[in-house]
Amino acid sequence: MPLSDFSAPLVLVVDDDVATRLLLKGLLAKQGYLVVEAANGQQAVESVRQQPPDLILMDVMMPDVDGYSACAQIRLLMGDESLPVVMLTAADDIESIEKAFNAGATDFITKPLNWALLAERVRYALRTGSLNREVRRARLREATTRRVAGIGYWQWSLDDDALTCSEDLELLTGVPLHRAATLHALAGLVHEGDRKRLMAAFERARDTGSKVDLEVRLASGQGERMLRLVGERGTQVEDVSLMFGVIQDVTDSRRAQALVDYLALHDETTGLGNRRLFQQQVSNALEGLKGDPGRVMLVGVIDLSRFGRYNDTLGVQIADRLLGLVGQRIKSSLGAFGSEVARLGGDEFAVMVLASDEPAAVQRFNAMLAKLEAPFRVDEQEVFVGLSSGFSLYPADAANQDGLLTLAQEAQRQARRMGHASLRCSIDADAAQRQRVALELELSLHKALERGEFFLVYQPQMNFATGRIVGAEALLRWRHPELGVVPPIQFVPLLEETGLIHDVGAWVVREAARQAGVWERDGLPLRIGVNLSPKQFLALGLFDIVAHACRQAAVSPSLIELEITESLTMQDVEHTQALLQEFREAGFKIAVDDFGVGHSSMEYLLKFPIDVIKIDRAFVMNITTERGHRAIVRAMTVLAQSLGMQVIAEGVETQRQCDFIEALGVNEVQGYLIGKPMSAEDFEAMARGYRRTV
Ligand code: C2E
Ligand code: MG
Ligand code: MG
Repeated sequence: MPLSDFSAPLVLVVDDDVATRLLLKGLLAKQGYLVVEAANGQQAVESVRQQPPDLILMDVMMPDVDGYSACAQIRLLMGDESLPVVMLTAADDIESIEKAFNAGATDFITKPLNWALLAERVRYALRTGSLNREVRRARLREATTRRVAGIGYWQWSLDDDALTCSEDLELLTGVPLHRAATLHALAGLVHEGDRKRLMAAFERARDTGSKVDLEVRLASGQGERMLRLVGERGTQVEDVSLMFGVIQDVTDSRRAQALVDYLALHDETTGLGNRRLFQQQVSNALEGLKGDPGRVMLVGVIDLSRFGRYNDTLGVQIADRLLGLVGQRIKSSLGAFGSEVARLGGDEFAVMVLASDEPAAVQRFNAMLAKLEAPFRVDEQEVFVGLSSGFSLYPADAANQDGLLTLAQEAQRQARRMGHASLRCSIDADAAQRQRVALELELSLHKALERGEFFLVYQPQMNFATGRIVGAEALLRWRHPELGVVPPIQFVPLLEETGLIHDVGAWVVREAARQAGVWERDGLPLRIGVNLSPKQFLALGLFDIVAHACRQAAVSPSLIELEITESLTMQDVEHTQALLQEFREAGFKIAVDDFGVGHSSMEYLLKFPIDVIKIDRAFVMNITTERGHRAIVRAMTVLAQSLGMQVIAEGVETQRQCDFIEALGVNEVQGYLIGKPMSAEDFEAMARGYRRTV
């Protein structure tokens, strides 16, 4: 058997007798071993320190440091027994043989030496030594692996409850588990609440032969740890009354898991539960309600209107904070008891309210909605959020979580379409009726364009400086065969939802351009404002549609004023900039509609090529009573004009409002005071002969 593949084994020969050393050396060299010599115990220890041999042959009888103490020192130095030490003793000296083993010797050979036997013993000792080293290395590897994996092992005797745990568990857990000599003692170390479970699992394993696999908590100096115990019965005949297993410290992975679970059920932005958690909560609550006629549940959905613009105007971080504030306000106004709040995603929230009857549930929901009307304070700004909401009730509307949530969401979408703040789901007779109307509207909308049911009305705009009508805003109307004239607030959102806005919008552009062209040729160069919806604006090809319509109508582009809203341009700043630039270069005018209700109105003016701002009616309405609004209008006007823009005030209804507006420096006025939206003929007649009377 080759003792080493790479080099001959190294044998250390220790004897004070030079002749014996020489003899041994000669013999061993002939067998192919490398030999080093030492003349006494001292030298032997030194030699081992410098280069540990594979085997030591050592005389016991030496002056000064004898073989026994040299052997003992070498064991200490090496830290284990894997290096074989064969002692050379006098024959039949039982006492010295005993002493040699006590000092850590592996084997002995009696003197005088029998050379044949010696060669055999040396070979054997070397083999054992190399096996021992192999075992030792394997143990070390195993211990390292266990430590890295956070695993210790245990063994439990079914017969007498004796337990053995590996010592390294203390390193892992900070608790001396290996001192627990029985399962009962181990149970005494784990968390009170887990003791019964631990005992039961082991007893079951003993009685039925099942595996043990459980997790228990352990109070340790490093806080609470989570231990997983896995084990099974021995399979060898001699092991059948033993169970073997491992203990693993799974604290960190459980913690990570708990975080993952938390994140899987919560929304990071608001800290509220997410859709999944909400669904579970509603299901659980429904379980509790079944068979209890004295309790109802309301499931409500709240959707913030046009929230996307906050992301663009306030920045995502602040918009996220706003969402968090909205969530908190919903939560605090519902109170902690009998309600849940979740963020379903985006700008959509859901609530669940438990109450004694329907009116009480609805009242609580509505009171919460009312609280959302007050402004939110984020980043030094007061922000109002618009919303639409819908709700459904258990047991009246649906019996399960899925049905309740779906109905509430449908009701919310319906509310948004119809411009309501809140609607109950369509089980409600009124709402069902309303939904039918909306559906019918939608159906007839599809035919409206080809049936020529759309028409434009024109609302005059007067210039303060000249006192003349200088333009009009073209406003879309729909003459429904049965319902009569339908206002845009009722069908423009439908057009947008159905995508019809593209065709209808293009028709509006063509019609307004045609009319403006006719008036221009008749010596009435009136500027006509055309509203563009965000969808339309973001779709490709808008420029071509508008440019083509103007060429067809042979109208000067400078007479066409495109009204866009702030929210729109915020959605895709680069696209908007490029498109507006294109319009400007072609000579069109750009107006920002409903100016002031957004949030970065001022910044907006610097970013885009804009000709006109239209101050929202909301500011005009209170101009006579609110100093704050006056200040805002004044500031907006000054800024816009300093950037070379014109300012139009919308929705001016009274003479007093008009006076204030004029005093604040606004250029033009549009509103019922000057004229309501009217037919093209009426408008033409008014524009021709207009003399300022206001
Ligand atoms: P808008 O562009 O802000 O239009 C002004 C709205 O205010 C018009 O309502 C107008 O009739 C109304 N208004 C004008 N002066 C007064 C006033 O003194 N007092 C009051 N209380 N209201 C006044 P209308 O025509 O119902 O249009 C509503 C909205 O529908 C428009 O708001 C616009 O956003 C949209 N819209 C109208 N026509 C079109 C269109 O052709 N295309 C698109 N995409 N949207 C349109
Ligand atoms: Mg407008
Ligand atoms: Mg407007």
